[in-house]
Amino acid sequence: MNQANTEEIVMGPHRYRNNQKMIPGSESAWKVASENGMMGIKVRSLGSQNRLLDIERDHEFVNMCSCSYLGLNSHPLVIQGGIEALKSETISGLAMAECRIRLGSMFELEESLSEHFGVKVLPAVTCSALTAAILPVLGSGHITNTDPLVVVFDKYAHFSMNFIKPIVADETLVLTCEHNDMNYLEDICKKYSRVAYVCDGVYSVGGGANITALLQLQEKYGLFLYIVDSHALSTQGIKGEGYAMSRMPELNEQTIIVASIAKAFGSTGGIAMLGSDKHYDFLYRTGPLGWSQSLRTASIGTTLGSLKVHKSPELAKLQLQLKQNIELFDSQIITPQTGNGLHIKVVEVGEQEKAVYLSKALYEQGFYCSAVFFPIVPKGKAGIRLMLRGDMPTQLVQKFIDTLKTLTTEMQTP
Ligand SMILES: *Cc1c(COP(=O)(O)O)cnc(C)c1O
Repeated sequence: MNQANTEEIVMGPHRYRNNQKMIPGSESAWKVASENGMMGIKVRSLGSQNRLLDIERDHEFVNMCSCSYLGLNSHPLVIQGGIEALKSETISGLAMAECRIRLGSMFELEESLSEHFGVKVLPAVTCSALTAAILPVLGSGHITNTDPLVVVFDKYAHFSMNFIKPIVADETLVLTCEHNDMNYLEDICKKYSRVAYVCDGVYSVGGGANITALLQLQEKYGLFLYIVDSHALSTQGIKGEGYAMSRMPELNEQTIIVASIAKAFGSTGGIAMLGSDKHYDFLYRTGPLGWSQSLRTASIGTTLGSLKVHKSPELAKLQLQLKQNIELFDSQIITPQTGNGLHIKVVEVGEQEKAVYLSKALYEQGFYCSAVFFPIVPKGKAGIRLMLRGDMPTQLVQKFIDTLKTLTTEMQTP
């Protein structure tokens, strides 16, 4: 008998993920973008304002797809910090679990970050590594020193949180709530005595968490908050503490805010801002945080460099320019995110082909914006995603707006 006919198909329960369903859909969309030359572009940095040179096409363009919202990734203090750290430490990294041994400059960095943000700060190789380490022990009750907590994920929580769901679900009950559905969350808080909520501060396709409502639920029911604020660190708050923390009177014991420092912060790596230092050493040796690396020497240096910018008046200047750029854009281009005060916008055009066409046409005019389509956004709501930045002068933003207006008008005329 043919073995293939009798062999039982082995498949997972697909409770929290489904590659069989998701991968074919997204791969076909990536293919369209790739066929239009919008993928794998080889570039050289031209130094500032996220200006890049397409090496193969000898074409200069402005990167509107970069998460370096303040342009700190090319700031002289950041670059210099990286070079100096490598020179003085003479080692790229210790290549070991850093809960055991770590460089003096790493201790210096931990202290500087903690002092700057006014809370205990745990650095790590990425923000995703922090989430992979913290969520399973949060779910099992090892941060609250209690029995396990019910862990509720916002439906739009970033993939780096979502893909840890099956691991958390092996420890406790995992639930998913509709985006920003505070009523559902309150019902869960009424039903169970220990609940944690996992969400983004600022979401990658626009919009923010309802921090006021979350703090009320925390006060009323002791809700634990795990917030990833990668898109907003540095862009908001007097110290660049982000969307979530700048809306809180203090970071209490029932809250952890995690963020990438590879976005607006302009370095590489991630940080966890902890409402309590009780579990600092425990977390340092938990999951991926206790494996073979934390921040490498170069990123310790670039992070210290960026902290210098964060402590200078330049931060407020860049934040203000970003705010003005957002207002300028919002006053002329309507998007679902108009008026939300945030820098991530999606200009909807409908079909996937139209989105890729617009992205390509903008690129030819000197602006790279990514085409987004299902499963990033719902079917029929494809468009281009763009990020406004604080290192873009007003004039350049206006030029971008004019280009975008001309192209979208052309697309609408048959
Ligand atoms: C960028 C981002 C991440 C990933 O950060 P890494 O440091 O690359 O792991 C996670 N969550 C959110 C919300 C993000 O925007």
